[in-house]
Amino acid sequence: MSALSSVTVIGGGAVGLATAYYLRKADLDVTIIESGRPGCSTSWGNGGWLSPVLSIPTPGPGVPRMGVAESFQRDSAVAIRPLTAPSMIPWLLRFARHCTRSSFESGSARLGALSREMFDGFDELADLGVPVEVPRKGNLRACLTEAEARHQLAELAPMRAAGYAVPTRIMGHEEIHELEPELSDQVRSGFNLTEERHVDPGAFCNTLAEYLVKRGVRLHTGTRVTAVHASGGRVTAVETTGGQVRADALVIAAGLDTRRIAAWLGARLPMRGGKGYSFFVPSEHSPAHPLYLSHTKVGVTPLKGGYRVLGGMEIADETLRINPRMVRGMVRVARRYLRHMPANESVRELPHLWAGLRPMTPDGLPIIDHLPNLSNAYVNTGHGMLGVGLSMVSGAALTDFMLNGIRPDVLSPFGATRF
Ligand SMILES: Cc1cc2nc3c(=O)[nH]c(=O)nc-3n(C[C@H](O)[C@H](O)[C@H](O)COP(=O)(O)OP(=O)(O)OC[C@H]3O[C@@H](n4cnc5c(N)ncnc54)[C@H](O)[C@@H]3O)c2cc1C
Repeated sequence: MSALSSVTVIGGGAVGLATAYYLRKADLDVTIIESGRPGCSTSWGNGGWLSPVLSIPTPGPGVPRMGVAESFQRDSAVAIRPLTAPSMIPWLLRFARHCTRSSFESGSARLGALSREMFDGFDELADLGVPVEVPRKGNLRACLTEAEARHQLAELAPMRAAGYAVPTRIMGHEEIHELEPELSDQVRSGFNLTEERHVDPGAFCNTLAEYLVKRGVRLHTGTRVTAVHASGGRVTAVETTGGQVRADALVIAAGLDTRRIAAWLGARLPMRGGKGYSFFVPSEHSPAHPLYLSHTKVGVTPLKGGYRVLGGMEIADETLRINPRMVRGMVRVARRYLRHMPANESVRELPHLWAGLRPMTPDGLPIIDHLPNLSNAYVNTGHGMLGVGLSMVSGAALTDFMLNGIRPDVLSPFGATRF
């Protein structure tokens, strides 16, 4: 039996809220400290894809070459700019070391084991009547040529072999337009990953936060953690802008900021922010499916009243400054693939133009563990491009670890001292 009775969670993004859900479900007294509002940071303007098939590490074979080459291309959604922050160079070198076939395959298998139960937590919320909408539209890959579609489908063959719903054939022009009439005529082929789902990520965070408060979780919004006190190998309290909060146990789920908070406790977590962008297109002509626009790294998520266009992977300084060149590239790509994407919108006028920093690790795997030398401090972070989809499974697995003191097998690749 666990001796835990109360837990403080730093961070009310998707990962912190999902962790709080499972801790509360285990009857613990839970306090969340969030410097803004629930889901206000990277968990807000992202794609909201719940995608077991695409749960693969960011570092992969060919990624460094592609990153460097695309940094100079006009429509590219990828940019690596080491000169904006030379301190990132050692991190980039570590990242590059993981861009091998074997590292990618083992990372994919490890993420696959975690993502296999991805939907369970979302289904559980639905069973409880928590009004999180999780449309089951799949994830439609839209390609400009059949050759491109065939190539991209072939890349997913290992996921099919692992038992995921990956189709065996591509669709032709007529079939894909019948399924998704909002695609432009330039789209000639593609395939649908039929079992993938999506959420409106901001709505997911808000709804989950409201539910948690109803269940007795204390949620301190607008409250920043400024220090963590530890003694005798245990965290004892956190200092916040609203006063001190006692902590029997601590979970740091502060996205990229976890790096800084863990450093206060002597743990070096090698994380970098991978900046991405999104904007909203209010429209009566929203596609019905989430779309992955071929090799462009640009995606589209249908939301209430329109759709969100998302993309970009910029490894540079870690500000939220908007890079208009990248956003213009996303607009051009979306216009090429979507029939009714409005023309002549200047970047400044795009509604809900947003930037977020994905919490990235050099091996592309999350960090879900206790911190070294502290028996009651845990981290749940580093989910990179996958934090919304993996939020519930990560929260469930960490809670299991905290309650039983035995690390579940599924978490063994995600240790804090593996780097
Ligand atoms: C363009 C883009 C598209 C994406 N698309 C998808 C997708 O389709 N599917 C998917 O699964 N993932 C996607 N992601 C990734 C996903 O957004 C992240 O992995 C996820 O949001 C990380 O959640 P988090 O809770 O760890 O971090 P965050 O959302 O950053 O939450 C951390 C919280 O901690 C709070 N905090 C930080 N420091 C402190 C402090 N000192 N005191 C108190 N509070 C603090 C912050 O305010 C914040 O709310 C995308 C990301 C981007 C940029």
